[in-house]
Amino acid sequence: MEAPSNTTLAELTSSDALGGLTGRVIAPNDAAYDQARAVYYGGIDKRPGAIARVANVADVQRVIATARDGGYELAVRSGGHSIAGHSTTNGGIVLDLRAMSKVEIDPTDRSAWVETGATALAVTEAAGKHGLVVGFGDSGSVGVGGITLGGGIGFLVRKFGLTIDSVLAAEVVTADGRRLRIDAEHHPDLFWAIRGGGGNFGVVTRLRFRLHELPQFTGGILVLPATPETITGFVAAATNAPEELSAIGNIMPAPPLPFLPSEMHGKLVIFGMLAFVGGHRSAEPALAPFRSLAAPIADLVKAMPYAEMYPPEDPNARPAAVGRTLFVDGIDQPLAETIVDYLSTSDAAVRVAQLRVLGGAVARVAPGATAYAHRSKPMLVNVAAFYNGPEDRAVRAAWVAQFARTVQPDDAGAYVGFLGDEGAARVRSAYPDATWHRLTRIKSTYDPTNLFRLNQNIPPAPLDGDRAQSRDA
Ligand SMILES: Cc1cc2nc3c(=O)[nH]c(=O)nc-3n(C[C@H](O)[C@H](O)[C@H](O)COP(=O)(O)OP(=O)(O)OC[C@H]3O[C@@H](n4cnc5c(N)ncnc54)[C@H](O)[C@@H]3O)c2cc1C
Repeated sequence: MEAPSNTTLAELTSSDALGGLTGRVIAPNDAAYDQARAVYYGGIDKRPGAIARVANVADVQRVIATARDGGYELAVRSGGHSIAGHSTTNGGIVLDLRAMSKVEIDPTDRSAWVETGATALAVTEAAGKHGLVVGFGDSGSVGVGGITLGGGIGFLVRKFGLTIDSVLAAEVVTADGRRLRIDAEHHPDLFWAIRGGGGNFGVVTRLRFRLHELPQFTGGILVLPATPETITGFVAAATNAPEELSAIGNIMPAPPLPFLPSEMHGKLVIFGMLAFVGGHRSAEPALAPFRSLAAPIADLVKAMPYAEMYPPEDPNARPAAVGRTLFVDGIDQPLAETIVDYLSTSDAAVRVAQLRVLGGAVARVAPGATAYAHRSKPMLVNVAAFYNGPEDRAVRAAWVAQFARTVQPDDAGAYVGFLGDEGAARVRSAYPDATWHRLTRIKSTYDPTNLFRLNQNIPPAPLDGDRAQSRDA
């Protein structure tokens, strides 16, 4: 929705509404505007009417009230990594949480309160100082807010489960401006919904995590030549490994990285990311099956601090990508051949089939326990290609769509955290029926007007009266 014409957002920023924030309001005429409106993905170039960089809960309440009462589109941003571009808006207000990034570790209690504008790396480093950890994803710059509310599938997923499996409590500001402290006893329905239901139910300002002990860690990059045999072998090794080990296999042309021989650049490889909860001696038996698949092109797997799994990132990188996320039951030889064939025929500078073996602690949680219900799915695959601009976007999107259909012809569900801007049917397939219906009912309790709709949207369930009316019509 564009800003209403009677009161412009520029006027609002200087009025009592947004002007009274403790944090900062960045308007289009501000020198910091272009930097502030940028999100992780290139190709998403929206111009918000105002960016409200909130400093505290009172600011969050004020921004929510301004958007609600003024009819402005509201985008909620933690780390800005939304694949669908949901954390920005044309003409509306961005509620930007990145200045709310306090991380408070309680080593005695092994827990942490984290403001949702913190990054995964910041929490990992802070917890790591105490030999503790909570698992996020494979990117250090991702925001704690976005990744946690979607579920959170990362390097430690088989040992410690999804990120949401370590959430003990949260603080949420709802559409009506209430500040709620929620956990298994307080607003349990809302607590259930935010663990997988995304940003549909309010602005989550803080999360309390259980931290896990991680006195020793072994992990890093293992690069192998990609053939149908090494791909199926990699998946078998990851599936059969003890759950201390989680593996991500990126099947892709080798990037021109200094630790890869130049003659390998551009050749198809398995760019593996291996993570083992334990020291290098106990890791050896779990790592050996990967190392024996082929002579490694690079083997950087070693005992190290877990935070080193997140390499330094270029803060100005703005990759433009199209992708599709899928669940599969496994990778057999014909499917591995298909993956090699597809990746060999495209000429996109970056193209990838990312294979993540799940199971372990993820599968031990009952499907109905959280809004992430795909607990028994053994594997997740992401297919993606980078594009340069509007001129090649359609070609890359068509390649991704066809590749994804070949890998998974059925609607086998989706992980909401990896969905792009793919339409209502794909959001629906992220949630089995019982989960979806419960989510829509909770949505109608906490956000009946769908103020929080710039997300993988779960619309409010129609009230009983509405249902009767539409039956009569
Ligand atoms: C490079 C990259 C790597 C990734 N790797 C992984 C991975 O390994 N595992 C994984 O599970 N996911 C991964 N993701 C997906 C990622 O978890 C989602 O895109 C997530 O939504 C990003 O969170 P964010 O806070 O950075 O994004 P934002 O763009 O800031 O937020 C995304 C959406 O989440 C909601 N939201 C964010 N914060 C709040 C809040 N505090 N309160 C209410 N709603 C909120 C809003 O609807 C917002 O539009 C990756 C994404 C990228 C770009």
